[in-house]
Amino acid sequence: MLYISPFFTAYFLIKAAVLGSALGSFICCFAYRYINNESVLKGRSKCDKCGHVLGIIDLIPIIGYIVLRGKCRYCKEKISPASFLSEIILAVAFMLLVLRFNISEELLRALIFTCLLMAIALIDLESFIIPDKLIISGIIIWIATLPLMPDPLKNAGYGIIGGLSVAFGLFTLSIIFDKIKGQETLGGGDIKLFFVTGLYLGPMQNLLNLIIACIVGIFFTFVFGNSIHKKAMGNTENYEKSGKFSKPVPFGPSIAFATLVTMLAGKYIISWYLGLFY
Ligand SMILES: [Zn+2]
Repeated sequence: MLYISPFFTAYFLIKAAVLGSALGSFICCFAYRYINNESVLKGRSKCDKCGHVLGIIDLIPIIGYIVLRGKCRYCKEKISPASFLSEIILAVAFMLLVLRFNISEELLRALIFTCLLMAIALIDLESFIIPDKLIISGIIIWIATLPLMPDPLKNAGYGIIGGLSVAFGLFTLSIIFDKIKGQETLGGGDIKLFFVTGLYLGPMQNLLNLIIACIVGIFFTFVFGNSIHKKAMGNTENYEKSGKFSKPVPFGPSIAFATLVTMLAGKYIISWYLGLFY
């Protein structure tokens, strides 16, 4: 369907990028309002520094930030690049997902789930918490989209096995490591998130997801660990809620990124890996 003509392919990819960037902007706004306990729907977007209500042009995803060169039109203070980066990430993710899943029911499910992962990543990054509400939303979206899948029963079975196997394995490991180290090693939110990703990915891909998440997590800690740690020290209340000062880098963003990579390439990586033994 996607490849009927090059014109249609290009048209659909541009549409995906526009939709992705708009949702990236919305999700970033949602995440920051959620963290600060503000109403998600009420009120117009304002500049964080001077409080000036933003105009239409300021709110155009990606382009708005570039036109303003990352500064507020009214007070000339730097605007946080969080929204700009979310917009770009979701625009690229949406285009890649379209290429991977073509125009299908699976695409719809993958797009919605990616939005949820984006919200989880942003909230965990800022507050060191993966809210149960978002975990439950992930389960509800999975159930609601089940009837759309090619073989719903098989899909449901694979999903439940994929979620339980990795989450249960991690839960057992985390209890053992907690005993050995005498402190929390892996957050409960991370384990719950691996249950949800398993629903969507199935057992093989969720195991791959875990491996990729660990690699991304190590890289992420190495590159951003210090700056996240410093920022968290200035945000002591949330930081104390997160428990341990020895665990300064949230794992949620790495899991979210790994899940996107697995959705896009997991099938191919696994068949390549299995092919090595034949
Ligand atoms: Zn301003």
